[in-house]
Amino acid sequence: MRIGIGYDIHRFRESGTLRLGGIEVPDAPQLDGHSDGDGLIHAIIDALLGAAGEGDIGRHFPPGDPSTEGIDSRELLTRVVRLVVSRGYRVHNIDATVVAERPRLATHLPAMRDSLARCLGVPASSVNVKATTNERLDALGTGEALAAMAVALLEEEVP
Ligand code: MG
Repeated sequence: MRIGIGYDIHRFRESGTLRLGGIEVPDAPQLDGHSDGDGLIHAIIDALLGAAGEGDIGRHFPPGDPSTEGIDSRELLTRVVRLVVSRGYRVHNIDATVVAERPRLATHLPAMRDSLARCLGVPASSVNVKATTNERLDALGTGEALAAMAVALLEEEVP
């Protein structure tokens, strides 16, 4: 077993629709970023790369690379899962927490879980996404930004 941790934070834009956990979430603008700004997926990617000993998201997908500009982060996650599998690992489970004052996420968590599980190639029961607020403190608490953290557990594939 190998464990990895990931963290990401993105500022909200003024417009667009929030992409989080691979789905569109109404009632909040898009997150700023080189890709689609899906900070939850980015945290999961870093957790997977960390568990596999493969560095971080910036090493694999450098910001400013025109080929990943505006890219659907599910595509980045799919590529990272492929890399992890090619190194002889299998995703055992993922746990994640989103910290955001807006929008209300509770009703969207099951759809995020399903979307992430599809990209990860695991049953939905192997993925858990939680949401909390920052109690109105700091940049997260004013609704200026959204943060996510994730933990990934990988199993060595039996040869
Ligand atoms: Mg990011």
